[in-house]
Amino acid sequence: MRICSECVLPETFPGISFNRDGVCNFCQSACSSDRLERERAKYRRKFEDLLARHAGTSGYECLLCFSGGKDSAYTLDILKNRYGLRVLALTFDNGFMSPVAQENIGRLVEGLGVDHMVFRPRFDLVRRIFALSATESFYSGKTLQRASSICTSCISMVKSVALMTAIEKGIPFVVYGWSPGQAPLHASVMQTNPSLMKAAQRSVREPLVQRFGNEVDAYFLKEHHFERPELFPCNVHPLAFLEYDEPTIYARLAELGWVRPDDTDPNSTNCLLNTYANHVHQQRFGYNPYALEIANMVRESVMSREEGLRRLSVRPRSEQLEVIRQRLGIG
Ligand SMILES: [Zn+2]
Repeated sequence: MRICSECVLPETFPGISFNRDGVCNFCQSACSSDRLERERAKYRRKFEDLLARHAGTSGYECLLCFSGGKDSAYTLDILKNRYGLRVLALTFDNGFMSPVAQENIGRLVEGLGVDHMVFRPRFDLVRRIFALSATESFYSGKTLQRASSICTSCISMVKSVALMTAIEKGIPFVVYGWSPGQAPLHASVMQTNPSLMKAAQRSVREPLVQRFGNEVDAYFLKEHHFERPELFPCNVHPLAFLEYDEPTIYARLAELGWVRPDDTDPNSTNCLLNTYANHVHQQRFGYNPYALEIANMVRESVMSREEGLRRLSVRPRSEQLEVIRQRLGIG
């Protein structure tokens, strides 16, 4: 298997080509580290200016999508302790959370003094959604370059429940703990736009409603939400424009009592389903759905190439996959 000599993208990645030195087209068109630094500073200022404009708002100042994984846990600490914000943490329990992640969530919200809501959709329904996502293709190729089909179904529901909650509670910011490789910097501080959100929601909601009926509709925005554009929040991914160094993150989280789960794969610190989702994607498309995220982090020097290659080479144990298949009701 040919792999880019600078990042970690394999020859099986869609749209990849290599120059004579074995460097991929994604690396060749990446921006310089100086430019990246300037861009990061620009988005940090943009976020801080927006915060200043919203200062003094009553109620919650931001809603954080809090999975309990290391990146969202670290983001919670930043929002609360660096920016001094009144945060509502929202956890979407997909039925596959590691028990250690559940304990981490409890310790962090209690230790940091943050209000917390858990949304747990009915398991019989999400189980069927995940099982079908594993076997059928209902997302575009572009979407699947960034995440597996199962992850896309799950994250789409997370984003939509978070947006609905923010609109209903009048919260001006929805914050995510995406790593710098997961979400592009230019989208790290972005006002949500009702018509764009409506189109984005349609591409996910429709295939799900067609297959599972109107019950799925409870997880998506309704017409009355779209009629209040002034309540649409700004989406923020602070880890894209702030410093990102895994040893620093783990050290700070240890101070807060966060413990790394030992039952998840190397690319997740909260979700047990991730292992299976990655396996299915790898089998179907021939590359790991984390390849793009890890390649971006290697290129931005927030992860070494050796570490990136190691994470992509870990294969799940068959008994691990079997446990998840059984919980999904397949195989
Ligand atoms: Zn490359």
